[in-house]
Amino acid sequence: PPRSLVAPEALFGASRRNSTGFDLTDEETLARIYAARDVAIPDAMPLTVSEPRGKMQDVVNPATGERIARVMMVDAETAARAIEDARIWDAPAEERAAVLRRAADLYEAHYGPIFGILGREAGKSLADAVAELREAVDFLRYYAAEGENCSDAPRGIVGAISPWNFPLAIFTGQIAAALMAGNAVIAKPAEPTPVIAAYAIGLLHQAGVPKTALQLLPGRGSVVGTAMTSDARVAGLVFTGSTETAQTIARTMAANLAPGTPLIAETGGLNAMVVDSTALPEQAVRDIVNSAFRSAGQRCSALRCLYVQEDVAPHLIEMIKGAMDELRVGDPWDLTTDVGPVIDPGAQKEIADYIAANANRVLHRLAAPSRGYFIPPTLLKVSGINDLEREIFGPVLHVATFRGDQLDQVIAEINARGFGLTFGLHTRIDSRVQEVSDAIHVGNIYVNRNQIGAVVGSQPFGGEGLSGTGPKAGGPRYVPRFFTPAAPAASA
Ligand code: GLU
Repeated sequence: PPRSLVAPEALFGASRRNSTGFDLTDEETLARIYAARDVAIPDAMPLTVSEPRGKMQDVVNPATGERIARVMMVDAETAARAIEDARIWDAPAEERAAVLRRAADLYEAHYGPIFGILGREAGKSLADAVAELREAVDFLRYYAAEGENCSDAPRGIVGAISPWNFPLAIFTGQIAAALMAGNAVIAKPAEPTPVIAAYAIGLLHQAGVPKTALQLLPGRGSVVGTAMTSDARVAGLVFTGSTETAQTIARTMAANLAPGTPLIAETGGLNAMVVDSTALPEQAVRDIVNSAFRSAGQRCSALRCLYVQEDVAPHLIEMIKGAMDELRVGDPWDLTTDVGPVIDPGAQKEIADYIAANANRVLHRLAAPSRGYFIPPTLLKVSGINDLEREIFGPVLHVATFRGDQLDQVIAEINARGFGLTFGLHTRIDSRVQEVSDAIHVGNIYVNRNQIGAVVGSQPFGGEGLSGTGPKAGGPRYVPRFFTPAAPAASA
């Protein structure tokens, strides 16, 4: 059997290990998961200290377009009331850490409903759902370990606004870090995915997080987001979503909250990969297809613009088309599905319109089911990253070619776009790895592998420029940002 080169203890310390997940090649494990995930999907209710009020709205399965549950979208008064009711969590840090670890255990024990909800509400394949649960529990345990020896003061009330593409992992990570620093958290789940959020908050409360320290407010951005960014009692905000929304949040915060109130934002990207003529084609193609089409391209880390060196491009592009043909597009509930739906009809229309407007660039395109919100994986020919007007959050890959003497220019072009989240490089020239890594301005560089799926604790994740503020999630600087800056030592 392969032997791991570094013992996990050496990387993470004996007190923490990343979770192991599930072996989906094992038939007994699969049978156990299938039996456990087939649960009735509960309605998503706000979890607030005071009685919430709002309007019920449908929650829809993106693979079928059918209603699976309902959600109460809170009104502005409920949001204001939640801020009033919020109290910092003033238990000792070790106790907060113990509660977060208990929550991680509860998440793991409740894998059945979690996979069921992620599959139906968020269109997650089982493999993606397994990875997402792992990431969520890794965040809980990692932030518990990072914060348990800190004795700084919390900031106060922190608003957490999370995305639908990682409705459990990113949602949990934001909350866990803020709680670990003793803050009171008010969490707003993304509109398409409130059920998994309510389920997770239920487990956090069950683990021992006080209800005054953690409230859930499903609702519209214009109601809940506005309450969080314009109420002067809010002391910090953590957000993952689009660059445009982050800019709106920053403007509203600047106008209403105390000067310098921190915003931690993780936003979009126009992520590129460079494949030179020394790359191993089979390996590059596997990593390209995974980076671009896994999770239907709905990751901010996903590959959007591939640059292939001219002399190998015709062959490599034929191989990419062949690998795309092997992808199965369909209901993620089915284990053989590789590419599921996009999140909602709005996303489907936006991406379909973009492909239609670029019809003359299409090199390859698959078929997709007509029911549900599907977009067929699509390959478009471009001359470079500047042909991409904006981030298209779906299974659309752009490919450009470059001459061997143009690599510096390609890197400069990518940097000049201003995004800086992930970057991939496939090469067998050792010196090139260092040169390109030094020149490219991104948060996460991946060499000779795919560029998605950053692992908590070993690959802190986050970008620069238009891609976010930092600090990186799952890294050592994240939890400290949720404390007030340490008071200067008293002068002698
Ligand atoms: N951390 C995820 C990854 O590396 C991406 C997060 C996101 O899409 O927001 O794939």
